[in-house]
Amino acid sequence: MTQPILYIVVPCYNEEAVLPITGPMFLEKLRELTESGQIREESRVLFVNDGSKDGTWDEILRLRQSDEHAQGLKLSRNQGHQNALLAGLMTAKDYADVTISVDCDGQDDLNAMDAMLKEYQDGAEVVYGVRASRETDTVFKRTSAQGLYKLLRLFGAEVVYNHADYRLMSKKALEGLAQFKEVNLFLRGLIPLVGFKSSSVYYDRKARLAGETHYPLSKMLHLALDGITSLSVRPLKMITSLGLLVSLISLIAVVVVVIIKLFGYTVQGWTSLLCVIFLLGGVQIFCLGIIGEYIGKIYAESKARPRYIIEKNTLEEKPENTENSQNP
Ligand code: UDP
Ligand code: MG
Repeated sequence: MTQPILYIVVPCYNEEAVLPITGPMFLEKLRELTESGQIREESRVLFVNDGSKDGTWDEILRLRQSDEHAQGLKLSRNQGHQNALLAGLMTAKDYADVTISVDCDGQDDLNAMDAMLKEYQDGAEVVYGVRASRETDTVFKRTSAQGLYKLLRLFGAEVVYNHADYRLMSKKALEGLAQFKEVNLFLRGLIPLVGFKSSSVYYDRKARLAGETHYPLSKMLHLALDGITSLSVRPLKMITSLGLLVSLISLIAVVVVVIIKLFGYTVQGWTSLLCVIFLLGGVQIFCLGIIGEYIGKIYAESKARPRYIIEKNTLEEKPENTENSQNP
């Protein structure tokens, strides 16, 4: 069994409250994994500062000062969780054999990493961390999160149930992911499309250790909509079916109206007429909205803007005082 170099990738946005608690936890876990011989000593924790407006970056630098295993990546501005994660993974893949991405709020049980690495040793290229329970989430967060998964499934975006972004990916899987050039990122839905042998590890999700969630209901809905429209064209197909159905009903309505006219009751009908106008108007605007969502996606993709810009990478500014370096 060869020991891989592991990079733990941690996106951080305005997390100065929680980083002093969880930062050392990640480093401790890394040390534990190294000491038990599961990973090589060159393994690192890569903190990605996603354009935080507070002291997160200073906190990362402080961690790095106290322990060389902590490294930081600074994005030029806030790019959102998914892009920050991608930036971290794409940087880490050049240094590591395997990566594990995890949120920096301490909600995900770090001890699941042992099981993930075991699955990796058994040949899995992707290992999903799946929450066995959500008891510590508030009822609201739990229901809204579970609703999100159901909604995604309903509209044809295949995602692993109760899996967020706590996952192991091998270098091979990351190189596969690097070939996906889309700007509208929804990693959870994209990674199953990369393929390779995958497996799951179950863990209990804990409460956020400090700070506040960055995913209130509005952002969750946004994420769901993004997930659906960037992964699936099922809504467009549903519109077609809806259109067919409405046309069919209209056809029947026409027949009924003609029959009523033949019997001579034509003066009423004002109410039903208005109902039909309102109904069809609503359906049309709704459908236009959905089509608009996709056009918006095409717009973003066709501009092909960079998904993130790296301002600083501490991995590149390693203190070069290692005499016993193996590469001449
Ligand atoms: N995050 C980020 N950029 C953002 C928003 C969030 O990098 O624009 C990070 C955040 O620091 C955390 C992770 O993404 O490590 C997940 O965010 P959070 O814990 O707030 O979401 P929740 O777990 O409540 O869904
Ligand atoms: Mg969280």
